Amino acid sequence: MLFKKIPKTDKILERLPKDIPHTLKVSVCRQVLDNLRSQISSGTLTDPEALELDRVVEKVSQVLEKRLRPSLRPLINATGVVVHTNLGRSLLPEDVFQQIFQVAVNYSNLEYDLEAGKRGSRYSHVEELLCELTGAESALVVNNNAAAVLLTLETLARGKEVIVSRGELVEIGGSFRIPDVMARSGAILREVGATNRTHLRDYENAINENTALLMKVHQSNFAVVGFTSKVSMSDLKELGKRHGIPVIEDLGSGNLVDLTPYGFMHEPTVQESLKAGADLVSFSGDKMLGGPQAGIIVGKAELVDKIKKNPMNRAVRIDKLTLAGLEAILAIYRRPEEALRRIPTLRMLSMPYEETKKRAERLARRLRKMKLGGVKIGYRDTISRVGGGAMPLQELKSRAVVISFEGASSGPDAARVERRLRAGDPPVIARIEDEEIMFDLRTVQDREFPVLAQCIKKAIEGVG
Ligand SMILES: *Cc1c(COP(=O)(O)O)cnc(C)c1O
Repeated sequence: MLFKKIPKTDKILERLPKDIPHTLKVSVCRQVLDNLRSQISSGTLTDPEALELDRVVEKVSQVLEKRLRPSLRPLINATGVVVHTNLGRSLLPEDVFQQIFQVAVNYSNLEYDLEAGKRGSRYSHVEELLCELTGAESALVVNNNAAAVLLTLETLARGKEVIVSRGELVEIGGSFRIPDVMARSGAILREVGATNRTHLRDYENAINENTALLMKVHQSNFAVVGFTSKVSMSDLKELGKRHGIPVIEDLGSGNLVDLTPYGFMHEPTVQESLKAGADLVSFSGDKMLGGPQAGIIVGKAELVDKIKKNPMNRAVRIDKLTLAGLEAILAIYRRPEEALRRIPTLRMLSMPYEETKKRAERLARRLRKMKLGGVKIGYRDTISRVGGGAMPLQELKSRAVVISFEGASSGPDAARVERRLRAGDPPVIARIEDEEIMFDLRTVQDREFPVLAQCIKKAIEGVG
């Protein structure tokens, strides 16, 4: 009986907007009708009203709408993880985006020297700025830091040995592992020391006529604590100098400003690593730097020039939109206080606890005004994280809004509301802890507060 009540495809198609491609409409109709048939077969659909033409057209329209909207779209990050790799890592300031926009919709001097009236270099737009900011002789930017490391090793150490401490053979995730990247570059990894302790003599004993580089890698996403020892950049430089071997460092996140005044544990900045003697340093554009995805290599001109000439450089070259964004972000770093204020990543990282408290109150006030049923709005102290595989031990004290549920079986519960938040428009990503939903406002932007409150309201009221 019910099967016969399913509307005909033609009847549904007639009611859908003309400007949507026919094949897409047919495909969605099929999907919805197939779904209805299997619900009837399994006995989960028993109400004939659900098969009325109006109801089915509405369902098809909803699915169409979802299919037509962009797959990659903005969302609200209420996790408190600042450089959230799954959520796009770093946000650009809006005026930086203006610079990207102008370069995107107009021709530009990407590879044109306006003074000489002839071909120029795309790298020139950020090279001077990077040298000015870091004190390096030369600089090169590529697609990301993984490419920077690969390209550096391939250029300077293919077929030769690179000495790395066993305590620094890190896996970043997404299959970036130092030993694997080393193998792909054609360089031969020479591991020295132990996981917890590596001494200068370990490096020294491993040096031979086939050694191309001494390399340090930032531990990034893990920490070795207890009985530990590692060799400083300046000691390693001293050793390299005696043997005529360059010393390079993969700094991972890479910072241009010292965050210790904001309660951060000390991490060498790019400038410090170079000052301590690194011949080359590489780091990411979109981790703690807070810019677009990019890999940045700074250091000795002689080495950077070799890397620039590597044909592989073309395969990992930086795109013009990224370049425009990177130049604009780097320009802000000329005034470090301004960088802390204007670059969202730095602003969120350096946000004091007091400020997170005010933000939590701001959201809670909005929510209380909405008089939501079945829930309680409260606060909890929590820990925000740097993210991006950087500073795993760094705890950023923060204050979150928590929504707890009164537990009526027909009412909302944490898992269902969290699912609805994710399905919302815009989606909201929050954390569940102890059957409560927690919103860490450190990573919520000022402009998002009204929208966030609305999304929470919808997610709670849509359930139960
Ligand atoms: C993150 C990281 C990388 C990779 O950088 P991407 O810019 O993500 O490609 C390489 N090395 C270290 C030590 C890192 O932390």
